[in-house]
Amino acid sequence: MHSPDPMLIEDLVAANRILVDHGVMQAYGHVSARDLKNPERYWLARAMPPVLVTADDLLEFDLDSRPVRPAAPKLYAERAIHGEIFRARPDVVCVVHSHCESLIPFCNTDVKLRPMVGNAGFIGHGAPVFDIRDIDDSGDMNVCTAEQGRGLARSLGAHPLCLMRGHGVVVVGASIREAVRRAVISDANARLQLQALRLGPVKYLTEVEIAYAAKRSGHDTDRGWDLWKKQVLEKI
Ligand SMILES: [Zn+2]
Repeated sequence: MHSPDPMLIEDLVAANRILVDHGVMQAYGHVSARDLKNPERYWLARAMPPVLVTADDLLEFDLDSRPVRPAAPKLYAERAIHGEIFRARPDVVCVVHSHCESLIPFCNTDVKLRPMVGNAGFIGHGAPVFDIRDIDDSGDMNVCTAEQGRGLARSLGAHPLCLMRGHGVVVVGASIREAVRRAVISDANARLQLQALRLGPVKYLTEVEIAYAAKRSGHDTDRGWDLWKKQVLEKI
């Protein structure tokens, strides 16, 4: 057991609140961060509304999503999402799971979520969709077991996000700020795409534009984060 990086804790608290501020999460949804000093561990809040999360609510988990300190309070049921994605994707430092409503139409139809604007280029040629029925047809839509979490991680593959049929989305990043930014942009992109689809055939980003966005990935991500973090931490 060791003390986490204070900046990881501060940023994870901010991430919870930023995602609510931007309408990506409401009462449900969660965001986790890998412990870079101990990559087999990650940090996640106890089960609670994300907008109320403080540093004291963050708990340490192993990649089997068991709390390191056994006397933990009530925990999120869908922790396997985080543990199994961290296990499958060593490049991932942050996992956002939300039930973001704007994305649900793209979870439940054959219409692919595709990038409308340059900063959504990470969506690539269409976000993959995880259908829990491929793993478990019991009727429960939640991802609570390791097997379900592994299935979701397989659907995510090397992508930055994966839609979940009848449920929501996971968005990942190489840092907390990258995953949060992608989650906010995915929501905005979904709303823009739904509007555009009503008007007629949509001109999405081209192959060249998606490749250009990938090259510029990580460029100037701090400006939005710095503002968003300041805005939410001032409210605590
Ligand atoms: Zn969920």
